[in-house]
Amino acid sequence: MSLTDSHVHLQDECFRDDLEEVIQRALSSGVRRMVCCGTNPEDWQRVSLICQDHPCLLPAYGVHPWFAGRLSEGWKDKLHALADRSAAIGEIGLDKLLCNENIEKQIDVFNTQLDICLEAGKPAIVHCLKAFGALMQTLSSRKENPRLLMHSYSGSAEFMRELGKFDVYFSFNGKMLQDNCKSMHRAIRNAPAGKILLETDSPYLTPPEEYLLQAAAEKNIKNNMGYLRNEPANIPLICRGAARLRGVSPEELERQTEENFQILF
Ligand SMILES: [Zn+2]
Repeated sequence: MSLTDSHVHLQDECFRDDLEEVIQRALSSGVRRMVCCGTNPEDWQRVSLICQDHPCLLPAYGVHPWFAGRLSEGWKDKLHALADRSAAIGEIGLDKLLCNENIEKQIDVFNTQLDICLEAGKPAIVHCLKAFGALMQTLSSRKENPRLLMHSYSGSAEFMRELGKFDVYFSFNGKMLQDNCKSMHRAIRNAPAGKILLETDSPYLTPPEEYLLQAAAEKNIKNNMGYLRNEPANIPLICRGAARLRGVSPEELERQTEENFQILF
């Protein structure tokens, strides 16, 4: 098996004590690479360090919308300097669900980072929660956009089609496989084969039990939200679940997502 987890935060505090074990577990379960996404200038150094030590981790640097309002002077220069050594710029984006008050500032920081993507020739890893109108408006008002990866895509199947006018890919996580996420199931089913990727967003968005690798779950480590920690080793099971929804074999989805990753990154 050869799979990619296109979105993890292995720099997170809850991986400090057993990072080697977590990476080893991912590799032995068939996940051969993981994109480790920074969220603000404060965690970029940790991302860089752990990626240097582990060639299976690809670094991405960016300012997550939650941090857009508390940036200190010089963050742009710092990001510019990291961009060439980065697999992508991310995680960046817009969030009206969990942080609605500073959307103008978020758009500003998002635009700046999309420019950095273009200059460096890198894709953008995009977080978007309940801000799909603002996202469409922002992207449409720009002269040029980089390749985009909608991470943990949570929009409708219809909006996915609308976004198709940009060079956009969609990545789905394991939590979306739970029974009550019917609209997400539709999105997973309707995503164009040439545009789909898989991710865990570890340590967050822990999938339902049937998509948890037992060796990972039995560690019983919690993330800072108090939930069972998600791990990249869960990707093969998530691939099975997503393949079942799409009516293809896990091998076919594995082949397709690897091909898509290769093109996007
Ligand atoms: Zn994330």
